[in-house]
This record gives sequence, C-alpha cells and structure tokens, in this order.
Amino acid sequence: MANSPIIKVENLVKQYGNFTAVNDISFEVFEGEIFGLLGPNGAGKTTTLEIIETLRDKTSGQVTVDGFSVDREASKIKQRIGVQLQAAGYYPNLNLTELLVLFSGLYGVKIDPLEMLDKVSLRDKQKAKFKELSGGQKQRFSIATTLINNPRIIFLDEPTTGLDPQARRNLWELIQNIRSTGTTIVITTHYMDEAEILCDRVAFVDGGRIIGIDTPDHFIDELVASGFERPKQMKQANLEDVFIAKTGKELRAG
Ligand code: ATP
Repeated sequence: MANSPIIKVENLVKQYGNFTAVNDISFEVFEGEIFGLLGPNGAGKTTTLEIIETLRDKTSGQVTVDGFSVDREASKIKQRIGVQLQAAGYYPNLNLTELLVLFSGLYGVKIDPLEMLDKVSLRDKQKAKFKELSGGQKQRFSIATTLINNPRIIFLDEPTTGLDPQARRNLWELIQNIRSTGTTIVITTHYMDEAEILCDRVAFVDGGRIIGIDTPDHFIDELVASGFERPKQMKQANLEDVFIAKTGKELRAG
C-alpha cells in the first residue's frame, strides 16, 4: 500500500481564455495517504481537484486515477471516487435518510442509510432536512455522501472552512477514521494547522504552480535548519486550546 501512486498528475495545464489557472503541475498521491493541496484563494486548488474528479476538462497534461485516464475512462474513475456534492444538490423536501437513499440509487448501490449516518455521527438527525443542520453537521453529511459508493479515494474541498474549533476537530477525527479504513483522501485547505495535523504529505500551490511537496515535518525541519526562528517563543497552548478546554469538544447540536 505505501508508496504506490493511486493518482498521477503530469504537466497539468488549465487555461480559462488567456488566463492560466493551473500552470504545468505534476504530483502523485499515494494509496492510503491523506494528501493536502494547500494555497491561498485562487491558487488553482479547486480547478485541479475537479479535473482529477473528471468534472472539468483540462487544457493539457496527463491525469490517471487508479490506473484510469481522465480522458478515456472517466466513468471508471467516477465509480472509484467519492466527491462532495454542492449544497444545491440536496433537495429541500427530503430528509437525510431520504437523500442518502436517493443518492445510493443514482450510484446504483444498496446501502443502509442509518449505517451511513452512524459513520458521521448523525443518526439522531435522520429525519432532519439538510438546511436544518449546523455548519459542522452539513459538512459531516456531505462527507457521508462521498462514502456511498465505497470509494477508494475521496476528495474534500475545504471541508472545514467557516466551522468552529470543535466542529473542525470533530471533522479531523472523522477524516482520520475514514483513512484508517484504507481510503485515500485528497483535501484542500488554507488552514495550515489543519494540514499539519491531518496530512501525510502536502503540496503548496500558488499562482497555478506547485512550489513544494513534502511531509509537514520535513518542511518544518527544513525551515528550522535554515536558521528560521519564530519571533516569539510559543506557549505550550494557544487560545484555541483554551476555548476547547473551556467548552469541551464533544459533538454539539448547534
Ligand atoms: P479558492 O480557495 O478560492 O477556491 P482555488 O485555489 O480553489 O481557490 P480555483 O477555484 O481553482 O482556485 O481558481 C483558480 C483561478 O482560476 C482563479 O483565479 C479563478 O478566478 C479562476 N477560475 C476558476 N474557474 C474559472 C472559470 N470557470 N472561468 C474563468 N476563470 C476561472
């Protein structure tokens, strides 16, 4: 399992008119790892992800997923990956159980919706509508929908943006649990603390280019070895730790 690439991206380019959003990037994602695409807004992370997911056309380059080419074998790839739906896909009149049954029908697989909801700790919301969920619950539900077809790889595009610290930590735990079942996870984020905790390897993307790929540990060690020092000695905890300590980190309804 270790070090065998499940995604290969070679010299990928995406142009929107004259604008180059993805500028000749190459990387591999290994089976079973949590791989992070990190970078500021507009860096090209979503575009890259959507090309790998076969949802967007590329301008040039090669992309293979589990050995299949995005050009010729998109349907094979779709069977093997899990992608978060946009919120617009959650029909407003259906509750969570009904939505899962609907989506499993679209995938042509049979699932137990309550078992799926258990995976993301949402059994008690089985009769709720999507719009009635909190931000963290919405994200957890949308992660459940990525698991319906028992995919080999799931793609999570900024899954924790806008969430409070507890909801973020709950989601990290969920993502780690999913990985422990052998699923490969590709995640985009601009939260560096999140990447440091979650990701086995990260690629920094900026202006459509990859400017470095390594493990978080190596990146940090390399910077320290170069003589970098933080301006102020860090304390043993930060304000977020205080927040979590005072408010607890159990799953919340709100
Ligand atoms: P964010 O974190 O804001 O989602 P991102 O790294 O995911 O950023 P992308 O969404 O991939 O970035 O966008 C990369 C660049 O391509 C941006 O400058 C964006 O404006 C541009 N872009 C994205 N989609 C289109 C499109 N359909 N037509 C034209 N330009 C686009």
